[in-house]
Parts: sequence; C-alpha cells; structure tokens
Amino acid sequence: MKYALVTGGARGIGKTVSIQLAQKGYKVLINFRSNVQAARETLETIEANGGSAELLQFDVSSLEDTKNVLGKWIENHPEDVIEVLVNNAGIKKDNLMLLMEEEEWSSVLNTNLNSVFYVTRLVLKKMIANRYGRIVNMVSLSGIKGLPGQTNYSGSKAGVIGVTKALAQEVGRRKITVNAVAPGFIKTDMTEAIEEKDFKAMIPMRRFGTPEEVAGVVSFLVSPEASYITGEVISVNGGLYT
Ligand code: NAP
Repeated sequence: MKYALVTGGARGIGKTVSIQLAQKGYKVLINFRSNVQAARETLETIEANGGSAELLQFDVSSLEDTKNVLGKWIENHPEDVIEVLVNNAGIKKDNLMLLMEEEEWSSVLNTNLNSVFYVTRLVLKKMIANRYGRIVNMVSLSGIKGLPGQTNYSGSKAGVIGVTKALAQEVGRRKITVNAVAPGFIKTDMTEAIEEKDFKAMIPMRRFGTPEEVAGVVSFLVSPEASYITGEVISVNGGLYT
C-alpha cells in the first residue's frame, strides 16, 4: 500500500491536500494535533469520494510524540511505504520582536521548523531504501520576504526553505525530490482574523487564494511529471512579491 502523510492534514490547506492525494490513489495518513472532529470530517470526505485514509494524531512539535506515534506506525507497517510526505502543519503567534515572549518564539519554531526534522527523518529511511519519494514542505511568503510582526514565523519558514534546498541535494541521487510551496494569503482558519478587503489592493490578483490553488501545486510536485524538479520554492500568492 502506498501512503501519503500530510501533517496538519485535517484542516485548511492540509485538508485539501489530503483530499487531492486520496484522489490520486494514495492512502492518506491524516496527521493532526487536537481537533478530532475536523480530522474525522476530512476522513469521511475522503471515504465518501471513494478514497482511503487513516488518522494519525500526534504533535509534530514534540520529538517524543512524533517518535511514539509515527515511529511506531512505521515499525508496525514494514510492508507499507510512505511515498509522499507533505510537511504542512504550522502555526503563527505574531508579535513584535521587542514584545515577543519566549513561548511565542519557541512554539512557532518547534511546530514549523523542528517538526520538519522530526517527521522527515523518520520517513526518509524507507524512501531511501525504495529509491523513490516526494517531499513537499509548506513554507510562506513570510519566509521569503520577511514580514514585520512575524520574526518567529518568518524565521521558521526561512529555515524550512534552507532545509528543503539542502535535503534536495542529499537525496537527489535516490530519486527523492524535495520542494517547498510558499503560499501568500490563503483563506483558512489561520487567516480568519485578516480582512481580505483590507489587503486585496496590494495583491495583483486582487483576492486571497484558496486551499485548492495551493493543493494543486502540491499534487503536481508529487506527480511523475515533476520528477526533475527539486530544491525549488514555488510561490502561490497571486503575484504578491515584495
Ligand atoms: P490551519 O487552517 O490553521 O490548519 C493547521 C493544521 O495544522 C491543523 O490541521 C492543525 O491541527 C495542524 N497543526 C498545527 N499544529 C500542529 C502540531 N503541533 N502537530 C500536528 N498538527 C498541527 O492552517 P493553514 O492555513 O491550512 O496552514 C497550513 C500551512 O500553510 C502552515 O504551515 C502555514 O504556515 C502555511 N501557510 C498558510 C498561509 C495562509 O494564508 N493560510 C499562508 C502561508 C503559509 P488541529 O486541527 O488539530 O489544530
């Protein structure tokens, strides 16, 4: 059985990625942290569309939790392979650097950056043995441009861009591609408090994007057609650069 693991795959962008990967024939491992109801709804949507998925609840910011749940799952499924990994789980806790609490810094760095190390390292072993794999990391315009009030978030996403480029060079000869997708403003719970009307004037496309528009790029990057693309950061931001 070929699996795709989507961290934070129960809501927002990750939910749509999970649904699209199930449509491509993958059995989807939907990771989430605490919102069981959202996770069940995503699972039901996939099953209603004829796809197949499984819930895998663990906190990607915790090395211990990731090892205990994902590590055990891998141990217990020696015949199965996670062929696609989408490191999508992320949080933001915006504040000016001067006012930022240590917890606001460390929780964002742990969830957005350290998680990529915790999860990818576990999944990579089998990909290397199989000489095939697709890794897509969800970054952000904020990690490319840097946004005021987001030193923690921008730092975490810029870090993931560095990881993406370095890892792509480590595993390219094993036919594993590693790419990043950098959304701008996308309509999800994360941007709920941001008014589209206040920001759309600065976006050339004059609107926020949809999870489908981000998931479509992930679907392409994991497809055979994208086999010679690696170490790239693909922006999905309606033309919003600097
Ligand atoms: P969202 O709607 O807030 O959903 C976040 C998902 O991540 C949820 O399923 C959540 O699980 C999960 N999650 C959060 N912390 C986790 C943890 N420690 N362990 C496991 N799962 C965790 O977010 P989104 O807008 O879809 O964002 C998805 C990704 O895109 C993030 O990496 C974000 O930084 C990036 N991004 C988003 C935008 C945007 O405009 N929305 C723009 C640029 C980049 P629970 O449901 O259990 O809480």
